[in-house]
Amino acid sequence: MSQYQSVKGTRDIFPEEAAQWNYVETIVHKLAALYGFREIRIPIFEYTELFQRGIGSTTDIVGKEMFSFQPDPKGRSITLRPEMTAGVMRAALQKNLFSLAPVHKLFYIGELFRKERPQAGRQRQFSQFGAELLGVSSPAAVAEVITLMMQVFKSLGLNGLKLRINTLGDSEDRLRFREALQAWFAPFHDILDEASKERLEKNPLRILDSKNPAMQELVSGAPRLYDYLKESSLQDFKKVLFYLEERGIAYEIDHRLVRGLDYYCHTAFEVTSSELGAQDAIGGGGRYDALARELGNSADVPASGFAVGIERLLITMEKQGLLAAIPSDAPVVYLVVQQQDLADHGMQIAWQLREAGIKTEIDLAGRSMKAQMREANRINAAYALFLGATEYETGHYSLKNLVTSEQTTLTLEAIVQFLREQRLQQCGN
Ligand code: AMP
Repeated sequence: MSQYQSVKGTRDIFPEEAAQWNYVETIVHKLAALYGFREIRIPIFEYTELFQRGIGSTTDIVGKEMFSFQPDPKGRSITLRPEMTAGVMRAALQKNLFSLAPVHKLFYIGELFRKERPQAGRQRQFSQFGAELLGVSSPAAVAEVITLMMQVFKSLGLNGLKLRINTLGDSEDRLRFREALQAWFAPFHDILDEASKERLEKNPLRILDSKNPAMQELVSGAPRLYDYLKESSLQDFKKVLFYLEERGIAYEIDHRLVRGLDYYCHTAFEVTSSELGAQDAIGGGGRYDALARELGNSADVPASGFAVGIERLLITMEKQGLLAAIPSDAPVVYLVVQQQDLADHGMQIAWQLREAGIKTEIDLAGRSMKAQMREANRINAAYALFLGATEYETGHYSLKNLVTSEQTTLTLEAIVQFLREQRLQQCGN
């Protein structure tokens, strides 16, 4: 055993599990394409100010969870990305995407880093897939983003996820609400926890998002932003809900949902799974028109998006028994070489099968026939193909179905044909 262990809050993904990841990622690619979202890949690290400006300095992420470092003494501080949206917007603005076309629909899959206390479903390196619809903000755009996210869940067979949704209004609505909140919390100043005291001045909305049970109880009596919305904000929200209803997407309005990041406006949403325990959020998102301006753009860029945690998605799939249905990546054929002097011929046949797109495994260590059979079973090969002196001379090979034990003797060409007809998994075809 090595003296080294993986870093706290990180984990390794071995091949069986990687197959599950690939499956999820394939569905994401497929459905994103169906909705016209194209993939963007951005750097793992960015200048620290991007997140400070983009996410907001009063958030937990920026306040205490960023992995930041200074590559050289005079250099600017750099941070491992703790979320994707700020980086995607930075990339879009830097590339001047909006001069090419007004609307850009982007999706991503990638790793994020947050210095949180590791526990079940919470890591320091984790992964998300998500989508960002940039350049248009309308109830239709928000509904499109939510629908794509929900369709991914549905395609993966997930059940019982809860979509909670809220509106944060526009900046005017929030300003009025902010004053109302400050006035309401003022008499409770002494019983506020330290974080909430600080937030009372800077961003009282975030007190509503407190994870502290004592604060949550207090918050339950606080005024609702919903009651401070102007008519147009209310209509915007109702239209989003209308689209969801039209599509049969069940939701629950949650007036306390503010989400952890500062850049949201109007619709915000979160999806939870009761199977996840304390860390029950599987994904979330919303509309964030003001982010571009926060990043120094001269105007707002209307935008909305979502992000889903892949680890938590897979934990939920496991709890719901959905992982067993994922197609396995077991090889189709195990080529059993009966005599050592036929090993080279075996290699040639394996190569021919692979050229024909048939997944093939062969022993490379000169092991006995018994050991080869054991290996074929261990890796769940569907068929064993036997190569002995007779097969070598006649060009007819015995193919054994390892599940039913049925055996047929065919030429290599016929075997390829047969396996294709069986519609068994062919690599690369
Ligand atoms: P957030 O950007 O915080 O809304 O996160 C979006 C999703 O990413 C969450 O709903 C989780 O599924 C996932 N996520 C966030 N933080 C972590 C973490 N530390 N470990 C694992 N998954 C996470």
